[in-house]
Amino acid sequence: MDIIIENARVLTLDDDDTEYPEADILIRDGRIQALGHGVARGHGGAARVIDRRGKLAMPGLINGHFHSPMNLFKGALVDMPLELYMLFEVPPLAETAASRELAHTRTQLAAVDLLRQGVTAIHDDVFYVPVPTDEEIDGVMSGYADSGIRATATINQSNVVEYAKYPYLAELLPPELRQRMDAAPRVEADAMLALYERYIGQWEGSHGGRIRTAVSCSAPQRVTPEYFRALGELSRRHGIPYQMHILETKLQRVLGRDKYGHSLIRYAHEQGVLDERAVVIHAIWIDDADIELLARSGCSVAHNPISNLKIGSGVMPFRRLREAGVNLCLGIDEVPVDDGMNLWTVGKVAGLIHKISDPEYRMVYGSWWGVVGLVPLGTGLVGWCPAYLPFGFSTCAVKNRAV
Ligand SMILES: [Zn+2]
Repeated sequence: MDIIIENARVLTLDDDDTEYPEADILIRDGRIQALGHGVARGHGGAARVIDRRGKLAMPGLINGHFHSPMNLFKGALVDMPLELYMLFEVPPLAETAASRELAHTRTQLAAVDLLRQGVTAIHDDVFYVPVPTDEEIDGVMSGYADSGIRATATINQSNVVEYAKYPYLAELLPPELRQRMDAAPRVEADAMLALYERYIGQWEGSHGGRIRTAVSCSAPQRVTPEYFRALGELSRRHGIPYQMHILETKLQRVLGRDKYGHSLIRYAHEQGVLDERAVVIHAIWIDDADIELLARSGCSVAHNPISNLKIGSGVMPFRRLREAGVNLCLGIDEVPVDDGMNLWTVGKVAGLIHKISDPEYRMVYGSWWGVVGLVPLGTGLVGWCPAYLPFGFSTCAVKNRAV
């Protein structure tokens, strides 16, 4: 049955920035057929009519970076820098995986929360502690499938021993703790690649294309170079995104120089994985050469300003990246580093924090990137395809048309 949304204020965010104080939207087979004044007038067939007078209809927001396994930790794990925070977030000596039911419930919890605020799509970098199990993966993916949201999800899994992820930690740790980390469960690269093939085969493009897959190394220093490259090959072969956290903290800048002789961005480039499918997460401690490599690669950068401030990681050079032509999107990251789950406040903070990075206010498109200027970023109009959502917070999400 067709759906007609009547009398909504419509923000199209199209190239001409067309805005309708009052308009109708005609939806057929889950896609927008017509939009404008009175377009649904004279509609002959049966239709479900939704009057949205006084409400706003606009493209749905896209949460460009997220870790759903932390969905039950709202307001927890506060005030620690990333390296300490991660000991609690991803305990290196954890032994028990989440059940299918727990994974399903916690995934749906975020999906519902996000849909209610107008987020219609999510990129979830799902880590599995201590290692991925078929049950937990099925819980996450079926949670998204059942919720109605569009989701792209990875299997984020490190395959090196914990102390190798940090500079100097191997020398600093007592031998007994080092041995326990050596003995902690890890999945070999071959087994992970086989798991990924099954995962992509089962979920990629399923549920009418609403559920998608991506690969993730977590971060370059958290995997072997062979696995880092093999995931790049998998991403190329299947045409799916490749998520990687790079230079989130100053310590990672030190680690790159210590372990690889230069920046982790250059390392990713040299390993052949920095391309248009790469989603580089954070990119805070980058220099001019890194920005040039990011821009040349055609990759996207996921900006998580609240997370970056909450755990004191730093301020991403947003304006320099944007001026270099790097594709940017916004992310919540995860609920403990946001104290909640709200992409609108992420956009607001992004719109405010970067005003103070340079005294020149006429840098991009003739003005500051204020809160309003960032709306297209949050909807993925700069990067990913958006979905239209009729606001009112109680109506159902409208299935999408790609813009
Ligand atoms: Zn993250």
